Amino acid sequence: MRKINKILVANRGEIALRVMRTAKEMGIRTVAIYSEADRNALHVRFADEAVCVGGPKSSESYLRGDVILDVCRQLQVDAIHPGYGFLSENATFAAKVKEAGFIFIGPSPEAIELMGSKLAAKAAVARYHIPMVPGTEHAITDVEEAKQIAQQVGFPILIKASAGGGGKGMRVVEDVASFEEQMRLAVSEAISAFGDGAVFIEKYIGSPRHIEIQVLGDTQGNIVHLFERECSIQRRHQKVIEEAPSSVLTPVLREEMGRCAVNVAKACDYVGAGTVEFLLDEQKNFYFLEMNTRLQVEHPVTEQITGLDMVKEQILIAEGLPLSFTQEDLQIQGHALELRVYAEDPANNFLPDIGKLETYKRPQGLGVRVDDGFEQGMDIPIYYDPMIAKLVTFGKDRQEAIDKMLRAIDEYQITGIETTLPFGKFVLQHEAFVSGDFDTKFIERYFNPEVLSLEAGETAQEIAAVLAATLLEEKKAPKAASAPAPTSTSSGSSWFRNRTK
Ligand code: ADP
Ligand code: ADP
Ligand code: MG
Repeated sequence: MRKINKILVANRGEIALRVMRTAKEMGIRTVAIYSEADRNALHVRFADEAVCVGGPKSSESYLRGDVILDVCRQLQVDAIHPGYGFLSENATFAAKVKEAGFIFIGPSPEAIELMGSKLAAKAAVARYHIPMVPGTEHAITDVEEAKQIAQQVGFPILIKASAGGGGKGMRVVEDVASFEEQMRLAVSEAISAFGDGAVFIEKYIGSPRHIEIQVLGDTQGNIVHLFERECSIQRRHQKVIEEAPSSVLTPVLREEMGRCAVNVAKACDYVGAGTVEFLLDEQKNFYFLEMNTRLQVEHPVTEQITGLDMVKEQILIAEGLPLSFTQEDLQIQGHALELRVYAEDPANNFLPDIGKLETYKRPQGLGVRVDDGFEQGMDIPIYYDPMIAKLVTFGKDRQEAIDKMLRAIDEYQITGIETTLPFGKFVLQHEAFVSGDFDTKFIERYFNPEVLSLEAGETAQEIAAVLAATLLEEKKAPKAASAPAPTSTSSGSSWFRNRTK
C-alpha cells in the first residue's frame, strides 16, 4: 500500500484534464507536462505545477520518457498517469517508471508488452478457450504458405499488423490474385508505422459489430467487468460514436462476453483498467480482437451507466487497495452515448480540418457531459490527434440519451473549423441507428457528404438539385463511394506514437 500524493499526467488535451479533475477531488496534487504548442492549453492551467518538456512534435515532448522521468524526480511526484495514446502502451516506458521508483498508473510492463502484440495476446488467451476470428496464429512470412492459409480461411481476408493500433495497419484482400501485392504493402506499412513487420491473417467478418468489455483488476487478483460498450460507428476502423449498454446484447450474452473478458485479463495477470475488444457477427457469435491496456477514450459511457469514476478506481488500484465491490454489486443504470467531436470534415472523407475555434460554446443541462481541452479562440494544433471534445449524454433509456444528444448537438456552437457534429446528428437520426440495427459498415452503407447539406434545412428546390447532382455523379462513377475505403490503413497523418517519423 502506498499513498499517492502527487501525480504527473503524461498527456495533453481532454484526457489530461479529465485525470487531473479526479486527482484534485481525491486531494492529490497534479503536475502537467506540455509542449511548446500547448503553452496556453487548459491542462497546463488546471495543474498545480506545469513543465514544458520540449517542441511541438510528440517525439520532442510527450513521447520523451526520459525527460518526463527527470521532471518526476525534480518535482517529487509519486505516480505517472499516461492517459491514452502517447506512452500509455509503451512497455519500456512503464518498466522505466517502475525502475525509477514511481508508480505507473496502469498494468505491469509485462501485461502491456504481451497485449501490445495481437499475436502474442491471442496465444496467451488460447488456454482459456476464448473464441477467435479464424486465421493464422503466427506471423506470416512465406507468401505461398500464407496464400494457402488465406484460401483455407476463405476470402475476403484481412492482413493485420500484429503491433497495429489506432485503426492503422489493416488491409482487406478480396481475392488470391491480389494477395501477394497486399501482403508486401502490409509488411512495409507495419514496419514504417510500428517498427515491426509482423503481420497475420484474419477472416474478414462482413458485417460485424464492435463490442468491447471494460475490465478492472486489483493487485490482489480480483478482476471484474463493467459491462460492454458498443463502438460500431467507425471511420477508418476508428470509433466516432459509442454507447453503453449495447442494444443487441442479451443478459446471457453479456455475461458470457464478460466472463471471457475477465479470463483474457487473467491470462496476463491484469491490474488496473483495461478493455477487451470483440467482434460480434450477424449470428451473434463473438470473437476476441485484442486487449487495450489503458484507459479508453470512450470510458465515460461506462462511468455514466455504472456510477463509477474510472480514473479514481485506477488510482486506488495503483495505491494497492482492493476493489471495493464485487461483480454482483455492479448494475447497469440507464443509457449513455458518446460522440467524438473531431476537427475533421465529414464531407471530405473525415480529413482533419485544423484551425482556430472562432466560436466555441458547449452545450449544458441535465444528462449532458462535455470532456474537452479547448476554449473559444484557441487553435487546434496540427501535431496531435484532432479530437476537440467528447460529447456524452445520459438518459434513463436509449431514446432519452438520443434525444439529449440531438439537443446537445444543436446547442453546441463551433465555427472556424469543420467538425463531426453534423455527422453525429445524421447518425442519431438515422433509422438504422435508432432501431439499433447497425454495424461497422454504417458509414459505407448509409453516409455520403450530400446528406449533410440536406440536413442544413434547405428549400425543397435545393434538396432536389442536390439529389439530382448525386444521381448524376453515381451514374458517372458507379463505385465512387464517398465513404473511406475499408482498405485504408496508413491514410491521413499518424498521430501519437507513430507520429515521430
Ligand atoms: P480507443 O481504442 O480508446 O477507443 P482509439 O483507437 O481512438 O481509442 O485510440 C486512442 C488514441 O490513441 C487515438 O487517438 C489513436 O490515434 C491513438 N493510438 C492508439 N493506439 C495507437 C497506436 N498503436 N499507434 C498510434 N496511435 C495509437
Ligand atoms: P486496432 O488495434 O487498430 O484498434 P482492432 O483489431 O481492434 O485494431 O480493429 C479495429 C477495427 O477494425 C474493428 O473495430 C473493426 O471495425 C475492424 N476489424 C478488425 N478486425 C476485423 C475482422 N477480422 N473483420 C472485420 N473487421 C475487422
Ligand atoms: Mg482496437
